[in-house]
Amino acid sequence: MQKPCIYCPGICISVCPTFINTGNLSLSPLGYSRYEDLGRNNCLKCWRCVSECPLNYPLPESYASEVKLDLEVLKKGEIILLSARKLDDKYSYGLSELLGTGLISINGLAERYDEGRPVNPSSLKRILRVLKNYGKVYTISPESFHTLSVPLLIENLAEFSIRLNYNGPIHIPCLLLSREEKIIQALISIGVRPTKIIRDQCLKMEEPEGLSLCPRASMRNVKTVFDEILASLSY
Ligand code: SF4
Ligand code: SF4
Repeated sequence: MQKPCIYCPGICISVCPTFINTGNLSLSPLGYSRYEDLGRNNCLKCWRCVSECPLNYPLPESYASEVKLDLEVLKKGEIILLSARKLDDKYSYGLSELLGTGLISINGLAERYDEGRPVNPSSLKRILRVLKNYGKVYTISPESFHTLSVPLLIENLAEFSIRLNYNGPIHIPCLLLSREEKIIQALISIGVRPTKIIRDQCLKMEEPEGLSLCPRASMRNVKTVFDEILASLSY
């Protein structure tokens, strides 16, 4: 078990979507850190609280057993698209085909972000070592970006000469909040015209408005930037 929450005045509470939506302290980082079952079952594992906490206390993954990450090379290529299994498969296979990239799939990330299972450190080291052997690796999954620091495809679409003709609100996923400025600049440079940035809607709790930058949003029937990219590549 990690070093426990020190019950500071609760700096993290103000960013927790379950607390914001319910006003219930039990459904907040304070409640989750006091009551294991609530932490295990009710916390969304969105990780918003961690960056606010002075200790970076990894509350979302404090109550479950480790998961080992593993990697499968599905297709070789000069540029690799990294797919997070069960999180972005709907898009990564088609994108890799249309963009002409190789494809590597990582297993275990869904368990980290859905079940709050900490990543086994040696499996993480091994994956990072393997990925170093590949020149350029991009991902479409916020989870791969967050765990493996792999650059985001949406920040590098210009390299593939992609233009998108979208004008409307953009939803930034919880795990990509730190990249908001860079992502928006990159999208504007390929033709996107954002009318509003939505950063306070966790899609594990509600259907965000606008075009989402998270592949998971498709499971909630929300249009994603990857639908737009696939449509533009299919013409
Ligand atoms: S991971 Fe998200 S839902 Fe869970 S306590 Fe932190 S902010 Fe709240
Ligand atoms: S998780 Fe961190 S920010 Fe939240 S109450 Fe505990 S110590 Fe404070």
